[in-house]
Amino acid sequence: MMLSKKDLIENFPILNRSIEDKKIIYFDNAATTLTPINVTNAIKDFYDYHNANVHRGAHLLSNEATEMYENARKSIAKFINAKTQEVIFTRGTTESINLFVYSIGKSDWIKGKDVLITTIEHHSNFVPWQQLAKTFDFNVIYYNPENGIFNLDEFISNITEDTKLISITGMSNVTGQVIPIREIINYAHEKDILVHVDGAQFVPHFGIDVKEIDVDFLSFSGHKMLGPMGIGVFYGKKKLLKKLPPFHYGGEMINWVSIENTDFAELPEKFQAGTPNVGGAVGLKAAIDYINEIGMENIKEHSKILTDYAMKRIKALDFITLYNPEDSSSIITFNVDNVHPHDVAQILSDKFGIAVRSGHLCAQPLLTQLGTKSVCRASFYFYNTEEEVDKLIEGLKFIKEWFK
Ligand code: PMP
Repeated sequence: MMLSKKDLIENFPILNRSIEDKKIIYFDNAATTLTPINVTNAIKDFYDYHNANVHRGAHLLSNEATEMYENARKSIAKFINAKTQEVIFTRGTTESINLFVYSIGKSDWIKGKDVLITTIEHHSNFVPWQQLAKTFDFNVIYYNPENGIFNLDEFISNITEDTKLISITGMSNVTGQVIPIREIINYAHEKDILVHVDGAQFVPHFGIDVKEIDVDFLSFSGHKMLGPMGIGVFYGKKKLLKKLPPFHYGGEMINWVSIENTDFAELPEKFQAGTPNVGGAVGLKAAIDYINEIGMENIKEHSKILTDYAMKRIKALDFITLYNPEDSSSIITFNVDNVHPHDVAQILSDKFGIAVRSGHLCAQPLLTQLGTKSVCRASFYFYNTEEEVDKLIEGLKFIKEWFK
């Protein structure tokens, strides 16, 4: 079910805002998506009527909060087809990946061995590996594709006898390229290599069935799929998570503590020290309810049609450098010849009410490969329309004239 303009404006109040007299056109979805009112209402309801700390209390509010929190986990588990104990709440993809690198780093699974990543990663799936390699004594192998375009055969040729783990994005936040994670996982498993997928962009646009695709570990963020900021998920196969050591230590993640030792809690608590973001989890559940109502298939189809349309229109402009490969989704990354991307973004906002991102997009190794320091990015979700893309094209033509 896709929504009418009227429903969209009712469900996403930001879409009713204007910049000067221009209705906002929100094309910054790869950074964060808009929040529907069922999400803000769910969070408000939690804080207004049920707010209490979870798992620890015998009183009514604590029981209600615990039930809401654990129901959220169940919904998310169902959404990705995982077991509930396999869903670890985190602050978002960045924290999920840090959790993973610290935890697997402390284990002896990758000690002295190779971890294969790529230079098309967001810094979240790059810097933790790079920085912690020395601390935990593993090697990082970087697949650095020419022109920033991922190629499966080239990628696979970087796998060696010593490769024990692959950590790769499912979809680039810069080029929108969709990575063949199914093929990577199949190939890796034949060689006993584990695979972690950074699903920050992939999951909101394609959903995922972790059992069917057989991914070992997955990270994603709530705020890129209609949920609130500050909540995300780390998924791992139960049998693997059970063997990994905790990341954070403290309350909630213990079974028994003595002066000599600590016995850790079972999954998922073992990886969730401290008071969790219960309101965030409740909000993420509401976001998933909303996505389910729209339907993932509809979201995919809409993305495809809109991306194809935008690519066709932008390719027709002779003053644009485009950085997308053919198989990109929902993201158009470009520069206007001889105009700084920050100027482009500012003028689009001020004169046309259009929100696009500009800068290095937290992917400097990839931008280096693309031969630039800074770009503009228009990124779509299911509430964006072809008329809005037309406005973007109008804005870009205006900018070209302005700087003539
Ligand atoms: N990975 C990718 C591919 C992303 O696009 C992002 C966010 N731009 C992240 C990781 C980091 O997500 P977060 O900031 O929610 O932790």
